[in-house]
Amino acid sequence: MITFYPGPSKVYPQVADYAAQAVREGIVSQNHRSVGFMDVVKETIQLLHEKLNVPSDYHIAFVSSATECWEIVAQSLTIETSSHPYTGAFGKKWMEYAHRIKPSGNGQNEDVLCVVQNETSNGTQVRMEALAQYRQQFSGLIAVDAVSSMAGVTFDWPLADVWFASVQKCFGLPAGLAVFIYSPAALERAQQIGENAHYNSLLFMHENFSKFQTPYTPNGLGIYCLMRVLQQVPPIAEVDVITRQRAADWYAFFEYEMSDSPFQLLITDPAVRSDTVIAVEGAEADIKAVKVAAQQAGITLGNGYGDWKYTTFRIANFPAIAQKEIETLMQFLLSSQQ
Ligand SMILES: *Cc1c(COP(=O)(O)O)cnc(C)c1O
Repeated sequence: MITFYPGPSKVYPQVADYAAQAVREGIVSQNHRSVGFMDVVKETIQLLHEKLNVPSDYHIAFVSSATECWEIVAQSLTIETSSHPYTGAFGKKWMEYAHRIKPSGNGQNEDVLCVVQNETSNGTQVRMEALAQYRQQFSGLIAVDAVSSMAGVTFDWPLADVWFASVQKCFGLPAGLAVFIYSPAALERAQQIGENAHYNSLLFMHENFSKFQTPYTPNGLGIYCLMRVLQQVPPIAEVDVITRQRAADWYAFFEYEMSDSPFQLLITDPAVRSDTVIAVEGAEADIKAVKVAAQQAGITLGNGYGDWKYTTFRIANFPAIAQKEIETLMQFLLSSQQ
């Protein structure tokens, strides 16, 4: 079975061995305040800086999910309320979660701008040029949800103060862990607010992570597997070239080779098309039929999401997916046209 589901998505096959080693070598049985475990946390953070080219003055913490990151931004970094220029289901959900914690509407000042860099639900992205414009126009903090693009493409990190991603998408790992990256300005904001009422308050997290510890027993297996995957993958600049080339191939494939099929690209403007999630639109019956036929051929396509649940399928373009698997799916789609 091969999967193009955009989350949870294909896990690097090597993770099976990493997980087995973590158990066999007792890594997951170590106390999370032991030197051995703290070394794993330390190395994983170092590798994130190295492999993803995260600026050395940006801090990194581990949490459980991107949803938790949405709440941390609201509770620990938002003074009055946050602004959410969203284009899809995840952006909308983030706004709903954030505004339950820091409501908007009574003329509150918007002091955090929340941007979903890659909208997994419809296959759009906010390019770095657009983020640079936000940076120029907005004087508050900028927080970026990069769940389905971090570790797949390069970012211009200084354009935002907070970047986060859970690992079950582009990182090619099982769910249950997220990476929360924050700038010195974000830390300063947290100190200014002084919010310390939660187990995952950023100040409390920061205090713990500066000792390579966590406030609660963390997902040690997930952190260890993340460390091993980061050791294995090439630097992000190299990954980025491959991801963008594969995305260009997918878009050309649907525009030209599949032009007589019942399917078309959901996003018509190439400038906002995602490099990591390709959304394909069609009549409900055709979408259903191709998903069933693909399944029978051993290929899982991503379902549509939110407003596009029944009229699209999605193809993950994540680094863990092998070139051969992409060719298999292209062949399947071409042959299903006849
Ligand atoms: C999957 C996804 C989320 C939710 O991630 P969780 O780890 O399940 O909380 C948030 N934002 C985007 C853009 C996503 O693709």
